Amino acid sequence: MDFAFGEEDEAFRARARSWLAGQVAGEWERRDWERALGKAGWIGLGWAEGGYGNRTASLTQQVVWAEEYARSGAPPRSGHIGEKLLAPTLLAHGGTEQKDRFLPPIALGEELWCQGYSEPGAGSDLAGIRTRAERRPDGSYRITGQKIWTSLAHEADWCFVLARTDPASRRHHGLGFLLVPMDQPGRVEVRPIRQLTGTSDFNEVFFDGAHARAEHLVGGEGAGWTVAMSLLGFERGVSTLAQQIGFAAELARVVREAVDRGAVDDPVVRDRLVRQWAELRVMRWHALRTLGGTGDAGAPSVAKLLWGGWHQRLGELAIQVRGAAAAAGPRDWTPSAPYTLDDVQRAFLFSRADTVYGGSDQVQRTIIAERVLGLPREPKGGV
Ligand SMILES: Cc1cc2nc3c(=O)[nH]c(=O)nc-3n(C[C@H](O)[C@H](O)[C@H](O)COP(=O)(O)OP(=O)(O)OC[C@H]3O[C@@H](n4cnc5c(N)ncnc54)[C@H](O)[C@@H]3O)c2cc1C
Repeated sequence: MDFAFGEEDEAFRARARSWLAGQVAGEWERRDWERALGKAGWIGLGWAEGGYGNRTASLTQQVVWAEEYARSGAPPRSGHIGEKLLAPTLLAHGGTEQKDRFLPPIALGEELWCQGYSEPGAGSDLAGIRTRAERRPDGSYRITGQKIWTSLAHEADWCFVLARTDPASRRHHGLGFLLVPMDQPGRVEVRPIRQLTGTSDFNEVFFDGAHARAEHLVGGEGAGWTVAMSLLGFERGVSTLAQQIGFAAELARVVREAVDRGAVDDPVVRDRLVRQWAELRVMRWHALRTLGGTGDAGAPSVAKLLWGGWHQRLGELAIQVRGAAAAAGPRDWTPSAPYTLDDVQRAFLFSRADTVYGGSDQVQRTIIAERVLGLPREPKGGV
């Protein structure tokens, strides 16, 4: 286990904790919060080497910041898609002008992004995408097609879109990775999708001849698949140690409720609570091993399988602990606000998606089967 926090990391932790403590008490609009983070230099901690980030922070300090963020009760981020997904992708594949144009506003919390990959006929099988990006004589692109499940598209200023630049191409060939402005009335339409929780965190996005500039194609024509897959690598490598701090708090809440309601008298509930605790420890060791650079090719898939299933089972356990009361509305429930859910109900419903987004469980198992165990590859449609 060669991943450990040193003295400098602990000094960094004290600075992060003190800044967060001074800020989180206030009421924040989502955009204002992003700007506050950016202004104080807390976005883009890992990019200083490229000359773009706000401050130099080692890998351990990035983990420290994410842990303190999770502990502080700070608002959920709406800038994470730009910061954690697009920025590392631009650093790896973008040209200098693209980095100069797009990284500073992400680091300042000024521009928000969404991810335009999935389509109604292309989710796990992403190579089936049909959205077209037709090249105009002036080199710009005209985009036509539909994306779906696009998180935060209703707040985003920009979308990175995977689209077919070569109309005759199939599967992962002939794709482009384009940076598309969302403010194109009549040409980009965002329709919210209502979820089980009653809220709308994701959307359908329709492109009807939307415009993308020639210089906003990342990695060149035909390189879309390579760029898109590289981005998914960043998505699967997210800061799981910090996520586990949130998980530990959720588990503690379920334990408390089980004690208060007497559900701990049920040996099955006790067994499940202990199992959740033990699995959370396993996830921590796995994350530490991976961060220390000793994980194997399957490590990100193992992490996704562990946390997705764990969190979903915790949601189910929380409902079991509550018994019949789990289905009841809160005390201040009114028929005019039928979707007023408390934290446990919301977490249970939202956790149904945990084994789907970021690569479903079945897809992760296929990756492990093929890339780690060397089992025969599953047949793919097309060429
Ligand atoms: C909360 C949430 C947020 C999301 N945000 C975004 C976003 O911002 N941008 C974006 O582009 N997408 C987003 N997605 C979409 C997400 O990436 C897809 O839902 C995911 O890739 C699965 O695709 P699908 O929904 O089309 O399901 P399908 O691919 O149709 O899968 C349906 C079921 O079949 C299984 N299955 C599929 N193929 C195989 C196979 N070969 N072998 C075995 N089983 C298989 C799957 O595991 C799943 O159980 C989000 C999804 C969720 C739930």
